[in-house]
Amino acid sequence: MKTSLAAARLPGLSGVPVLDQRPHVITSSFNGVRRLLCLGAHSDDIEIGCGGTILQALQQSPKLEVYWTVFCSNRERAIEAERSASHFLRGVRRKTIVVRSFRDGFLPYIGAPVKEAFEELKKTYSPDLIFTHFRHDLHQDHRIMCELTWNTFRNHLILEYEIPKYDADLRSPNFFVPLSQSICRKKINWLMRYFGTQRSKQWFSEDLFLGLLRLRGIEANSPTRFAEAFHCRKLLLGPSR
Ligand SMILES: [Zn+2]
Repeated sequence: MKTSLAAARLPGLSGVPVLDQRPHVITSSFNGVRRLLCLGAHSDDIEIGCGGTILQALQQSPKLEVYWTVFCSNRERAIEAERSASHFLRGVRRKTIVVRSFRDGFLPYIGAPVKEAFEELKKTYSPDLIFTHFRHDLHQDHRIMCELTWNTFRNHLILEYEIPKYDADLRSPNFFVPLSQSICRKKINWLMRYFGTQRSKQWFSEDLFLGLLRLRGIEANSPTRFAEAFHCRKLLLGPSR
């Protein structure tokens, strides 16, 4: 990811430097990111947590390679996951979608094969940027996915996404991606379209997804009013390796 710091001073009309009134924040773009890894415990997690950011990244960098993997599913949910991932990654030239069939809710209790799946992934794919679950997510499957991500990938930029839920475990994120209204609309429409098994759940609703995007948009001072948010625990500033 390229980063740039908004200049503190700009030349004024008279040639005398004047104070730049733009917000002084470090901004990044997807330039330089070539390989994304998207990790989700369940079939809809990646889309809920970072679906808009992925669409934005693909818009900015159409040559991105994407590895998208979901760990828990049954037959019905695997079909949903594959259809949705294929649609989100339409037009991506190099993509891998892997939907595993670990038992929903049991990832921490069947640990060894889950750990082995991460080890196998490390040998086959070297990402520049990883999206995974949040460390303090209260769903046990989400939490173990995050732990294994950090165990497995030690020289990578990892962004942890958020999943709103009954457990009330949302915190204050520190990394934001402003999203256009059209990308937000696509994300929500496709979530509602592809995850029929979830539509009856009270939390799985358009207004929830839009509300969180709007809230994070306020926190990001997003020019579009909407944003997705992440927790970034480690970020290196300096020469690339
Ligand atoms: Zn989940």
